[in-house]
Amino acid sequence: MDKKELHEAFNELESHAEATLTTIKKMKEELSHLTEENNVLRMENQNLRDRLAEVMKQQSIEKQVSDTGMTKSRLNLEKIYEDGFHVCNLFYGSRRDGDEPCAFCLEVIYGERR
Ligand SMILES: [Zn+2]
Repeated sequence: MDKKELHEAFNELESHAEATLTTIKKMKEELSHLTEENNVLRMENQNLRDRLAEVMKQQSIEKQVSDTGMTKSRLNLEKIYEDGFHVCNLFYGSRRDGDEPCAFCLEVIYGERR
């Protein structure tokens, strides 16, 4: 290798090194961009999880109420029934003779939740 060839080889090596350095810088920028984006997504994800947990907790509380309790209108019907009156369609408002149980009333009060 003479001096001229050596010089050209160095030039080529130098330009390759510069190109590589440019690539490294770009990748580094991209990496920090991705890291930042990742952090934002992580926080957003956590917020959504918290929100979801809150909503599910709220729903399970509401479900417990509807499972164990009755709606206000059913509670009212139950009270009227216990006061000795029919709440069924057949005998609505008439007195239950001797507090006899009425299957129709019970169906109205305790029947399938609608
Ligand atoms: Zn009845």
